[in-house]
Amino acid sequence: MAFEGLAERLQGSIKKMRGKGKVAEQDVKEMMREVRLALLEADVNFKVVKKFVSDVKERAVGQDILDSLTPGQQVIKIVNEELTKLMGGEQSKIATAQKPPTVVMMVGLQGAGKTTTTGKLALHLRKKHNRSPLMVAADIYRPAAIKQLETLGKQLDMPVFSLGDQVSPVEIAKQAIAKAKEEHHDYVIIDTAGRLHVDENLMGELDEIKEVVSPDEILLVVDAMTGQDAVNVAQNFNERLGITGVVLTKLDGDTRGGAAISVKAVTNTPIKFAGMGEKSDALEPFHPERMASRILG
Ligand code: GDP
Repeated sequence: MAFEGLAERLQGSIKKMRGKGKVAEQDVKEMMREVRLALLEADVNFKVVKKFVSDVKERAVGQDILDSLTPGQQVIKIVNEELTKLMGGEQSKIATAQKPPTVVMMVGLQGAGKTTTTGKLALHLRKKHNRSPLMVAADIYRPAAIKQLETLGKQLDMPVFSLGDQVSPVEIAKQAIAKAKEEHHDYVIIDTAGRLHVDENLMGELDEIKEVVSPDEILLVVDAMTGQDAVNVAQNFNERLGITGVVLTKLDGDTRGGAAISVKAVTNTPIKFAGMGEKSDALEPFHPERMASRILG
């Protein structure tokens, strides 16, 4: 289960704090030492950990807390609030263009779950927001990607725009948007090509597509299981391309949690959705507060 180690350790140190009628500065320090270790073990970026611990300490050793009737509870509340803040605070929703269609570019490395998430997002938009999305097969390099999206389209009864793998992704994207306008689709979700690593060719191509389609949303799909690597990928994509949100996939696995906690703080880009399984309905809007409560128990 995701966050298992982190949750166990944090809940352990919280338990010690919970019953305390009186909290000394020393108690807060001790608790934060444990919290710090727990976060580092969960693969949270060390700068993020440092700032988090210092923010909590600053608030927790304030007179108000130490003098309050339930100081233990107060400290726990601060940890919860700061953890929520770290993960973005308010839930960050997917964009809607003033004038349809809303154009969403899905980007990311191969294997992160981009194509799967394209289908999931289309289904989410139809089911939860009553929208009519058009999925676009613009990953012409991974041999099976187009087929995979077409199969998903059939399963979900969702239209897929494809021109095969001999037309440039830019041209595919351009024609897809024209088609969406013609057929009154209110979302266009473009499944772009991934690579094994961030490289110049990929970024150049994504940049070109971005120029042509002026996306309302560029969603980076990253695999939560890869921990700080996912955060580095997010930073790279953000610096080079500019992203508007992150989809963190495979949160149903036993990820330690570092990516979920660090992405927003490192890249200043919110996590908008979490992938919770392989099936098309396994996509959830990312709620920082619920996630924090889940981690803290
Ligand atoms: P792409 O190369 O980025 O397009 O990756 P795919 O969409 O083909 O996904 C790669 C693998 O990850 C597939 O086996 C998916 O079923 C799997 N996958 C994607 N998202 C999730 C998720 O949220 N949870 C789990 N458990 N598997 C996922």
